[in-house]
Amino acid sequence: MKRDSRETPFLSADPAPILERAAGGGRISEEECLALFRCRDLLAIGRAAHQARLSRTDPGAVTYTCDRNTNYTNACITGCAFCAFSRKPGDPDAYVLGESEFRAKIRELYERGGSQLLLQGGLHPGLPLEWHEGLLRWLRAEWPHLHLHCYSPPEIAYMAREARIPVFETIRRLREAGLQSIPGGGAEILSDRVRRKVSPRKISADEWIDVMRQASRAGLRASATMMFGHVETLEERVEHLRRVRDLQDETGVFTAFIAWTFQPKNAAVKEEFCGAYEYLRAAAIARLYLDNIPNHQASWVTQGPKIGQMSLFFGLNDLGSTMIEENVVREAGTAYRMDADELEAMAREAGFRPVKRNYYYEPYDHPADAPEGRRQRKILFPAY
Ligand code: SF4
Repeated sequence: MKRDSRETPFLSADPAPILERAAGGGRISEEECLALFRCRDLLAIGRAAHQARLSRTDPGAVTYTCDRNTNYTNACITGCAFCAFSRKPGDPDAYVLGESEFRAKIRELYERGGSQLLLQGGLHPGLPLEWHEGLLRWLRAEWPHLHLHCYSPPEIAYMAREARIPVFETIRRLREAGLQSIPGGGAEILSDRVRRKVSPRKISADEWIDVMRQASRAGLRASATMMFGHVETLEERVEHLRRVRDLQDETGVFTAFIAWTFQPKNAAVKEEFCGAYEYLRAAAIARLYLDNIPNHQASWVTQGPKIGQMSLFFGLNDLGSTMIEENVVREAGTAYRMDADELEAMAREAGFRPVKRNYYYEPYDHPADAPEGRRQRKILFPAY
């Protein structure tokens, strides 16, 4: 992130009235949000965010889920500057997962107590909407209780464009095939200046928002994300949060908000180091500004378990997922792994009751399906 010259090294303006109002559940304006991003009193911001979290979610509980983040393909035509994961279609190490690989991954997910498959991939020109419908139908038939949390807005917009049908119709068809909720990937920063710099071939900020609006119309829920700490200004971070809050006021589509920092190690964009201070401050400000999103997840996958645990006192109430599999952040050069026992221990040590949950933040253990699937032959894995 470019350092903002107006960011005060110490407290110049007193943020206390803003923090007091936000901590008590009052709404703060964009200008006030920007004032918090320019304020360096991390502990004052964190205290207010923690108070807001305690009043909006079960104060004694820290939730988590158990899923795997499977990437059905790494082939992508987009070439985002921050992405170390994707390959060009036709590259020797480009892949598309097949039936046996899905079976092995879901078997392992179930054996480790998982209940949800987060499925995302690159924009692959050889995988039309029908292939994705076939995949969802097959997954639904084999594991009827597995929660299918699939396809970020850029993937959905790409499927719609290739099929020459509206986004709503695309989501309706995916839902009919088995899709249950939509991950918030591909948001990065919802500002077109930033997007032109880091992901010029990806959908615009308006298009990302519209996919989520259409998802809500189709009766689905979704997550909102923010990847920050690259080329954006503080004003653009506020713009991102404003767009998310406005859409949530309009639709209520988001179950959760997740912020993480750009991982520069293997990416084409090289930016300044964005550390724990910046992460905790942004996560806490997001909790205060996004007063209409109940759950805020810690990104221990990018920050490590120690900062992840500390973030439970900076407005966050959820440890996300065990992420049995995670490829995108790992390819970017960051690799933290934790199982359910470790997440629970982390929550307990911080004084909270760990609660394993489903996608809708309800207590949930694991699905009743057999790990190997039903092996029913009526619905076949789609041909690629
Ligand atoms: S971030 Fe997503 S859309 Fe961009 S290059 Fe990587 S896989 Fe493709």
